[in-house]
Amino acid sequence: MNNSRRIVVLGAGLSGLTASLDLARAGYQVTLLESGADPGGLASSIRINDYPVERFYHFICRGDLDLIDLTRELGVNDRLHWQHTNTSNYYNGTLYPFSTPFDLLNYSPVPFWQRIRFGLHVFRSRYRKDWQALDQIAAAPWLISNLGAEAYNVIWKPLIQVKFGEYYPQISASWMWHRIYRVARSRKWLLAGESFGYLENGSSTLVEALRCALQSLPNFSLHLNTPAKKIVVSGGRVESVLCEKEQFPCDAVISTIALQNLDQLLPRLADPYFENIRSIQMIGVVCMLLNLDRPFSDNFWLNINDPRIPHNGIIELTNLNQYYRQAGLNIVYIPYYLPVTASRYTASDDMLLQENLATLKIINPSFDSSWIKECVVSRSPHAQAICTTGFSRRVPASRSPLQGLYVSDSTQFYPEDRTLSAAVRFGRKAAALCMEDLRGD
Ligand SMILES: Cc1cc2nc3c(=O)[nH]c(=O)nc-3n(C[C@H](O)[C@H](O)[C@H](O)COP(=O)(O)OP(=O)(O)OC[C@H]3O[C@@H](n4cnc5c(N)ncnc54)[C@H](O)[C@@H]3O)c2cc1C
Repeated sequence: MNNSRRIVVLGAGLSGLTASLDLARAGYQVTLLESGADPGGLASSIRINDYPVERFYHFICRGDLDLIDLTRELGVNDRLHWQHTNTSNYYNGTLYPFSTPFDLLNYSPVPFWQRIRFGLHVFRSRYRKDWQALDQIAAAPWLISNLGAEAYNVIWKPLIQVKFGEYYPQISASWMWHRIYRVARSRKWLLAGESFGYLENGSSTLVEALRCALQSLPNFSLHLNTPAKKIVVSGGRVESVLCEKEQFPCDAVISTIALQNLDQLLPRLADPYFENIRSIQMIGVVCMLLNLDRPFSDNFWLNINDPRIPHNGIIELTNLNQYYRQAGLNIVYIPYYLPVTASRYTASDDMLLQENLATLKIINPSFDSSWIKECVVSRSPHAQAICTTGFSRRVPASRSPLQGLYVSDSTQFYPEDRTLSAAVRFGRKAAALCMEDLRGD
C-alpha cells in the first residue's frame, strides 16, 4: 500500500524502530531521526573483540510477550534463549545464594518467619492483578507490613535503592509489585530456580533485525547523527521537524525521546498535559562495563547491602548470555542510579574505576585490577522515571493534545518497570493511534 502521508519518528531506540516498522509497512512515508551515531538507544551496543556488547545490561522475562512476539515477527526467535541463573545477596560481608525457594529458607540474615512471609508474598504478588490499590501506598510500608522490617531492609530495600538512589522511600508499591510479579512469572514453576532470557548478540540482535527490515522498505529513511532541534507547530498542529541542516515537513510526529527532551523541542504550550510532562522527574544512570580475563563470580545478579560499598548491585551478564562466554568475554556491569546533578554522575571514568576496584575486592578478595581487559562507562540522564505514589495519575497519554503529536515514553510503562518489551508495546501503540487519526482525517 502506498500512502503519501509523511510521519517523522524521533529516536531510533527500540520504541522508535518498532513504531517506524509498523508505519512503513502500512505504506506511510517514514523518516526516523536519531541524534546518536547508531540506532538502539539504551539498547545499543559497543564492540569488544569484534563482538557486540550491550552498553547497559538487559535480561528478558517469560512474560515479556511484546518483545517475544517481535522476535518471531522478525524471524530471530531462534536466537532468543532461556538460561538458569544464580542470584546472590552480599550482606554484611557474607555472600548468600538467593536463587531458589530453598536458598530463601536458608537465608539467615532474616528471621525464619519473615523468610516464610517473604516467599508467600512473592507467591501472592505473582497472582495479583489489581495494582491500582497499591498506587497510593509507598513500597516501603507495604513491604514492611507484608514481610517484616528485617526482610524489607535486607532484601528489597537495596533493590529499590539500586534503581532509584536517594528517591527510594517515595517509590510506589505498584511499581514494586510489578517488579516482583515480572520476575516471579519468569520461573517455569514456583519452586523452580530463576531463569531469564537473552538474545545471542544481546539487544543488537533485535536492533539489527529491525534495521534490516526497515531498510528493505523504499518508503523509509533513517538519519543518524541528526538530532531534532524543533517541532514546528502551525494552526494548532505539527507541521515539520527542524534539524540543524534540514527541515522535514510532516503530517504527524511520533516522539520516542525522553519527555524532557521533547519539551525542549516544542513551543511553550500551556496545556496541563505539557505542564505534567515538564514536572516528571527522572533519575540518571552511570554504568561501568568491565570485560575481565576470567569470571568474577558465578552469579548473574548480585544484590549488595554493605555500608562500605556505594552501589547496590553487580550484574555479570556472561553468567546469563552463553554466547558472551563462547566469545571469551567476561562482562560485568556496575550501575549507579543517581540524579544527574550528583557528583558521581559527572565523576571521571578513572575515579569511578578506582572506586569500583576497591569494592570488587571487598566482595571477591582474589580480584585484581590486572583482570580488567576493557572498561567502558556509559551514562544516560533519563534512565528511569521516579515513580512516586499516585504516579498513575501522571502517566501521559500516547495521543498528546497537540494535533499530530504522539508519544511513546517509559513513564507510560507504569507500573511496569522500564523494559525492552514495554518500549516495543508503546512504540506500536503510538504508531497505531497515529494511523487511526490519519485515516480519519
Ligand atoms: C541500565 C539499564 C538497564 C536496563 N535493563 C533492562 C533489562 O534488563 N531488561 C529490559 O527489558 N529492559 C531494560 N532496560 C530498559 C530498556 O533499555 C528501555 O526500556 C528501552 O531500551 C527503551 O527504549 P526507547 O526506544 O523507549 O528509548 P531509548 O532507548 O532511550 O531511545 C530514545 C532514542 O532517542 C534518541 N534521541 C534523544 N533525543 C533526540 C533528538 N532530539 N532527536 C533525535 N533523537 C533523539 C536517543 O539517542 C535514543 O537513541 C534497561 C535500561 C537501562 C538504562
